[in-house]
Formats: sequence, C-alpha cells, structure tokens
Amino acid sequence: QKEDSTADSQGVGGYKGHDMLAPFTAGWQSTDVNPLVIEKSEGSYVYDINGKKYLDTLAGLWCTALGGNEPKLVAAATAQLNKLPFYHSFWNRTTKPSLDLAKDLLETFTATKMAKAFFTNSGSEANDTQVKLVWYYNNALGRPDKKKFIARTKSYHGSTLIAASLSGLPALHQKFDLPAPFVLHTDCPHYWRYHLPGETEKEFATRLANNLENLILKEGPETIAAFIAEPVMGAGGVIPPPATYFEKVQAVVKKYDILFIADEVICAFGRLGTMFGCDKYNIKPDLVSVAKALSSAYMPIGAAMVSPEVSDVIYSQSNKLGTFSHGFTYSGHPVSCAVAIEALKLYKERNITEHVKQIAPKFQDGLKAFSDSPIIGEIRGTGLILGTEFTDNKSPNDPFPPEWGIGAYFGAQCEKHGMLVRVAGDNIMMSPPIIITPEEVDELIFKYGKALKATE
Ligand code: PLP
Repeated sequence: QKEDSTADSQGVGGYKGHDMLAPFTAGWQSTDVNPLVIEKSEGSYVYDINGKKYLDTLAGLWCTALGGNEPKLVAAATAQLNKLPFYHSFWNRTTKPSLDLAKDLLETFTATKMAKAFFTNSGSEANDTQVKLVWYYNNALGRPDKKKFIARTKSYHGSTLIAASLSGLPALHQKFDLPAPFVLHTDCPHYWRYHLPGETEKEFATRLANNLENLILKEGPETIAAFIAEPVMGAGGVIPPPATYFEKVQAVVKKYDILFIADEVICAFGRLGTMFGCDKYNIKPDLVSVAKALSSAYMPIGAAMVSPEVSDVIYSQSNKLGTFSHGFTYSGHPVSCAVAIEALKLYKERNITEHVKQIAPKFQDGLKAFSDSPIIGEIRGTGLILGTEFTDNKSPNDPFPPEWGIGAYFGAQCEKHGMLVRVAGDNIMMSPPIIITPEEVDELIFKYGKALKATE
C-alpha cells in the first residue's frame, strides 16, 4: 500500500542497525539505514545531533503547537515535578492538577456542553476509551446489540487495537489481523478524488450522507453505536470536509440514535483558526477526543470528553456496579496536567485562534500558488494544516508509478534544504507550530518551492 507507506528520513551517520523497534519506520533493523536523530528544539525549528537546523513543518507529529522551547511550559512541568511528580487518580484519590485541568478543558470546549473529561496518555487511548464508554453506556441502557462503530476510509484514530481498527488506512490493518469485526468504514469525504463527473461539493456530501444512511440501514440501526470523525482528516492526507458534509452526516446519525465522536486530536487548540474543529464545522458531538496540543506535546496526555447525557448514564451504571473499572496508571498524571493547564492558558492569553486566522492566508495562499506545477494534483488545507498530493495530469486517477518515489524525493529535498515534512507515498503533509511567524512562513514557502523545482 504505497499510499500509506512512509518515506523515511535520510538520517545522520552513526546509528545504523540501532536497537530500537521504531514505530512507523521501515527497515530500522537494516545496517544500511541511519535514523535522523533530533537533539534540540527552538521555536519552529529542531536541530539534529550534527547541529543542522530544520524548520519543523509538522510540529513534531502535529503536536508541538507552542513550538520547541516555551519557557512557561517548562516552568509548569518543573514546578510540578518539584512538588509532586506523581500520584494517581484511582479509588477517589487524585491530584489538584488533574481536577483543575478537567475544569479548564470542559470550559474551553464550547461547541456543545461536555460534562466530564477522562484523562489518557495519548490520542489512541482517548479513542479506545470512547469505545469502551460507548459500550458501557449502551449496556447500561439495555441495548446490548448497539455496539458497532462507523469510521471513514483514510481516517487515522491511532494505533492501539481499537484505534487502529477505527482507522481507515490499510497499512494499520494488514498483518495485524485488524480491523476488529465491530468496526465498519464508510466513504472518505475527499471531493477532488471521489466526486462523480459534474457533481458539486454539496451533491457529493449528500451522496456520502446517503451512503452512510444505507450502511446503517443495511447493518440495522439498532446495531450501530457511534460514528467517529476527524473534523479535518490528518494522517490520511489532510482532507478538509466538503461543504455541508458534517451538517448532513450529523442529521443521519441523529436520526438513528447514533453517538457522534469528534476526534479532535489534530484539529483542537487553534490549528484550524478556531479553538476546535467542531467550532469551525458546527459539529455538535456527544464525545470528543483530544491529545497532542493539549500539552503542546511537552508531556504525554490525552482526554476523552463526554456529554452530560452520556456521563449521567455512565455514572448510574457504575453506581450499580460499584466501580467504574477503566483507567491507566498515568490517567491525569499531575505533571502532564500541570503542563496542559499552562498550555490552555497560553492559547487563550496569546489569542492563538486570532493568530492562526491572521497567518493562515499567507501559509495557504503561498503554498497553493504552486498548484500549477505539472506534478501536483492537489494542494488542500485550511488554517495551519496543508497537504500536497503529487499526481500526473492533475488527475486523482493518474498516480505516478510508486517506484519513481516522487513524494520521497520531495521529502528528501526538503530535508536537504533544512525543512522536515511528513511524507506518505505521494502525499506531503504540513501542520507547523501554531506560533509560526510570518518570516518563518516565508522561509517554509521558499524551501517548498526549491524542493518542488528539484522534484519537477
Ligand atoms: N487521532 C488522530 C486524529 C490522530 O491524528 C492521532 C495521531 O496522529 C491519534 C488519534 C492517535 O494519537 P496518539 O499517537 O497520541 O495515540
């Protein structure tokens, strides 16, 4: 599956055949492969162990929103480490940072009311938690058959067993005996790639909503528990929804009493120019997953937020059972929570959504100006997230032969010029730190142009 494969870094010398079983990496065991070893970060830049500087257009992994050396986040972590480096949140024992973060996070999400936040270490765990919560909820309501999930082709929801099952990328399933049988996939809402001749964006959205409804009816609405979606698909190639898509899809799931899970792991905290993706697309979810920029990635943390309706049922069920038996040692880790509290404060103090609104046109228009390139099929994005897809003849149906390695070559050129991008087959993805400055956006566009010229 070329589309899902990663074109890895060119690397720096000295670490061939290392001992780490590296995530999402090809050939780590090979004595020919050198990893790129990053040693230091500063604002929108990272440095490798040889001191080479790179503009980090992916913000780590779509996550270091406040850049590489925000002193206030370091101070928040240090203060908490000095005071209480760890205590758990089991059995009605907890810590103040976890209680305070839950309150702050619920107040920050305003697209609809969320009643409770469950803390995890990652986005994958947040989505796994959502699945367990939804099952628990339906069992409590006496609906033991309402257990299936509908996700979308090309979605990415993480790599644990359930999150990888929800994800709609074949590479996450192949040879892992996934997806789990309770997960169904419906259409990817990528207009450019999948619209029929003459079909408008709105007609495309209507067709996809109809397909979703047909899938629900075929399976039996009484068996479908929830629908999960990223507001803008990230790892699947940066795919913003077509006009009216979420309005129509939400109407369908509501009609059949199916919960809506918004996977905000990439979109939350300003990336799209709104605090959450749900704000941008008028999504009214029942459950919301966040991670990554929640702490600007300085400490691992994620959260599953649930609506009052869902939390009320969960509470009454757990009261009957005696204990709500789900959690992780590090759920609500005090250092992660202290950092996340500070990150949320900084997003608000620095009016990060306004910053993104100001700078996004420069980033989007500057890069989309390359759309005429004969090797570019589509450049798409919104806010501070953007994808480039290389195809021949401007057509989604004319991919370049995989062995040409166009995306990999472009990525290597970027790296050579001191810029890191995400490469997946012939898809290039960017989501720079949201504190990126206008001058850094100029540099990003300049380096992109140089890499593109060399690739053409
Ligand atoms: N959901 C989305 C939308 C993501 O993009 C990711 C990671 O990229 C995840 C979930 C999984 O998060 P994690 O890698 O923290 O488990």
